[in-house]
Amino acid sequence: MSYFRAAVDATTGYIPGEQPKPGTKIIKLNTNENPYPPSPLAMEVLRNLDSEWLRRYPDPYARDFCEAVSEVLGVPTDWIIVSNGSDELLNVIIRACAEGSDRPIVYPMPTYVLYRTLATLQPAEVIEIPYPQDFKLPIDKLVAAKGAVTFIASPNSPSGHIVPFNDLRELAQRVSGVLVIDEAYVDFAEYSALPLVLEFNNVIILRTLSKGYSLAGLRMGFGIANPQLLSGLFKVKDSYNIDAIATLVGAAAIRDRAYKNDCVEKIKKSRAKLAIELTNLGFTVLNSHGNFVLATPPAKNAESLYLKLKEQGILVRYFKQPGLEDKLRITVGTQQQNQTLLEALIMFTA
Ligand SMILES: *Cc1c(COP(=O)(O)O)cnc(C)c1O
Repeated sequence: MSYFRAAVDATTGYIPGEQPKPGTKIIKLNTNENPYPPSPLAMEVLRNLDSEWLRRYPDPYARDFCEAVSEVLGVPTDWIIVSNGSDELLNVIIRACAEGSDRPIVYPMPTYVLYRTLATLQPAEVIEIPYPQDFKLPIDKLVAAKGAVTFIASPNSPSGHIVPFNDLRELAQRVSGVLVIDEAYVDFAEYSALPLVLEFNNVIILRTLSKGYSLAGLRMGFGIANPQLLSGLFKVKDSYNIDAIATLVGAAAIRDRAYKNDCVEKIKKSRAKLAIELTNLGFTVLNSHGNFVLATPPAKNAESLYLKLKEQGILVRYFKQPGLEDKLRITVGTQQQNQTLLEALIMFTA
């Protein structure tokens, strides 16, 4: 007899990428963190934090942060829900909407593995629809699966492709349940699906400060949807899910658009350069709209390359999963970090 529910025993839990301590001499290209430091204006807010903010419970709605988002994205504050990283919001959405086989969870594969982990724990039935080779969104199959929740990461990880706006629009129109568009990597892309939340009652857009804003350690994510859709999610989330520090630091970071855009431009340039250089080494590299590339080494020896790089203190991501076992997902680092990676790869593939 187990201490745990069957659903808990049935899952291994999500296995995050390795996180060595800051200061460890390692080149970390495995979890799509931004290689640049957070906004100096955000760090200034952190340094000057009044102790009164810590003595009191935080605002359950993180309104200071919502106001900053509202200014930057032009959406009303009551269309925003803030969460402890967007991972928490994925969890809240599943808890609020999905259950068993009557209320399944649907998504195209490959994508973010956490969707499956959270669904299994709920438990809710998972219906996974494979992407075709060209990553065209399988709209008919997704619709036919009748999800209580359909998840689309766009740009997607680990493939890096972005779903065409009109495909997302058609999906929003045709799915029966909630459509979650996970835009964790939108800062590195050319467009957002944000206008769809105004057009469709069932659409929620997820954003995070972890990738574009260099604040993965702060744990700050948010969702944008109409207040009616958000009302169910507010019932499920912890009252004090956002701490006072994250609320204030996050608000300063998202207001500092110039700094974010500057970092993003540098990363996009490095991404293009890295893709060309990997291609020159014989890798097949998918066109990426995120801060990473998915690359197939010429000898298809992804796992052994991953291990050799690790020995050299360079971490990249290897997924032992059907369709991904010959590929590496490499986060775009600084020019210097990318150079060191390429030198190691030249050594290993020579
Ligand atoms: C990184 C990532 C997230 C999670 O971001 P947090 O805000 O750090 O929880 C969500 N979805 C996708 C697709 C991601 O890659």
